[in-house]
Amino acid sequence: MTTISGKELAARVKERVKEQVAELKARGVVPCLAVILVGDNPASRVYVNGKEKDCIECGIESRVIRMPETTAQDELLREVRRCNEDASVHGLLVQLPLPEHIDERAVIEAIAPEKDVDGFTPVNVGRLVVGERCFVPCTPAGCMEMLRAAGVDPAGKRAVVLGRSNIVGKPMALLLTAANATVTLCHSRTGNLADVCREADILVAAVGKPRFVTAEMVKPGAVVIDVGINRLDTGKLCGDVDFESVSSKASAITPVPGGVGLMTRAMLLVNTLEAAQRSAAK
Ligand code: NDP
Repeated sequence: MTTISGKELAARVKERVKEQVAELKARGVVPCLAVILVGDNPASRVYVNGKEKDCIECGIESRVIRMPETTAQDELLREVRRCNEDASVHGLLVQLPLPEHIDERAVIEAIAPEKDVDGFTPVNVGRLVVGERCFVPCTPAGCMEMLRAAGVDPAGKRAVVLGRSNIVGKPMALLLTAANATVTLCHSRTGNLADVCREADILVAAVGKPRFVTAEMVKPGAVVIDVGINRLDTGKLCGDVDFESVSSKASAITPVPGGVGLMTRAMLLVNTLEAAQRSAAK
């Protein structure tokens, strides 16, 4: 059984980004990521700090725009538009979740598609569906990198994705389909879930439930990608997969922590670099 380490792979991806950022800088372009953070959700603060640290590590300029919890939707939309128009900003994201009084979709839709490094705007989602060049959401993009690194070619394989969220499950199913896997997308209303999972050569878990996938749900030799990040009462992090039992059945598995989460962070840097490269090529 192979453990597909996000740590080593993310370090390699970051090294590549760093080199290409240096090349861009030599041509007078400083790649810049703007992150808008509204309110003080503790988890969001941690994520945004991580993004800032990653950018600095790779030579990307990081601008964090902090706005209070009480920010009105119009004010936030104005800030988004300001970043859209600022030519020195290449990548722009609004950290989710937003406070309840703000319409998340309206804010996402205001982001200029060419700066949408999260890949959440309808334009990028649509391009992903029709197979055009686009910004791919970072988590599923990271999962695909992990499969590649493990030498897993999805072509002709049965893939099962657990979870149909817009940021993970749905784009993951699209990427696996584009890579010629035969994909089943499961959710809370799927019948005979364990039977469906047992058919998977590639099983991706993104349900948000600690240790939800057990060994009985896994086909011997399957490749298991664990997207889940759950905090247990003990304070420890664990995935959506019961690593201990499943690792004795799978041929390869990603760990939590040290797996998909690190790749998600790395892919944001890749997308930001690409946004800067595209803008420099104009
Ligand atoms: P959501 O809560 O948006 O979606 C969860 C999905 O799981 C839904 O589609 C839901 O179905 C499905 N689901 C829930 N219960 C069951 C069940 N019993 N059987 C089958 N399907 C079920 O979560 P996200 O996609 O945002 O995140 C999923 C997990 O991944 C979380 O643990 C999150 O923390 C983690 N995550 C990790 C990232 C990383 O970088 N590693 C990045 C983003 C998320 P339905 O649609 O029917 O409700």
